Formats: sequence, C-alpha cells, structure tokens
Amino acid sequence: MGDREEVPSWRYYYQYMRENTPFVIYYPTCGGGDECISACPYGDKIWETRPMRVKLLGLGKETIRYRPVMVHPELCKRCMLCVQACPTGALSPKEKEPRHHWLRLLIEALRLPFKKRYGIRYVFRKEHRERFVRNNWPKARHN
Ligand code: SF4
Repeated sequence: MGDREEVPSWRYYYQYMRENTPFVIYYPTCGGGDECISACPYGDKIWETRPMRVKLLGLGKETIRYRPVMVHPELCKRCMLCVQACPTGALSPKEKEPRHHWLRLLIEALRLPFKKRYGIRYVFRKEHRERFVRNNWPKARHN
C-alpha cells in the first residue's frame, strides 16, 4: 500500500476502532511510539500498525504514518495496560473518550514525569524510539 491515494485517512481507522473494539484512538494525538502494543500481554496477536494519513501530534502535513489498530479485539482481556501505557491519552475506552483531545494530551504530558510504570523512561526506551521513527517516517521502515 504505497500509493498515497490508497491509504485511508486516520478517520477511517478511528471509526473502525469505535465500531469494532472496546477502545477508540484519536490518531491526531497518537505519537506512534507503539507503547500500547508493547504494554499489551498479547501485543502482536491483538495489534497491528497500519498506514494511514495523519499528522504527527498536529504538526507538519498530513502524510502516511503507521499507527496502532486493534485487529483481533476478541482476544482482548480488558486489562487496560495499553490505556495506562499510552503517553498522550489518544487511546481510551470508548465510554471514556475525552471531549477535548488536545487538553487530554497536555494533561498526559504533564503527568508523564510522575507516572511510575509507564513514565518517561518507558516512553524513551530504545524500542519505542525506534518505532517512533519507523512509524512516522515509513521510508525508514523499509531500509
Ligand atoms: S486491554 Fe489489555 S489485553 Fe486488551 S488490548 Fe489493552 S493491553 Fe491488550
């Protein structure tokens, strides 16, 4: 799926998540570090990263980036580790979706230094830094 025209907007996957899983992801505030996937005990069985057209945290132009999509929600145990690990608040249970996503991003960013399990050290782990680069600049993904 390399052609820009074939790659759906983030809105498509936002709706997919809303209709098919217990969660929503507001992709414009997702950083693409895949912290949710690595926190999930069934990470690669439940999640995939898919290409979609989206900005990076509202910056730059909308272009093709990879973002987490729950492809096997039936395997989810509702443990909420993925939600706890999300550093931006982009991922939330459907019934608790924030009304103001950018405010939520700000609050989560301020909380990050005080989070024990999924704080700054977790977010800046080597694997998340690498995934951040690969997911946001997908040409690097194929090198
Ligand atoms: S709730 Fe738990 S099992 Fe379900 S996707 Fe999140 S981390 Fe994985």
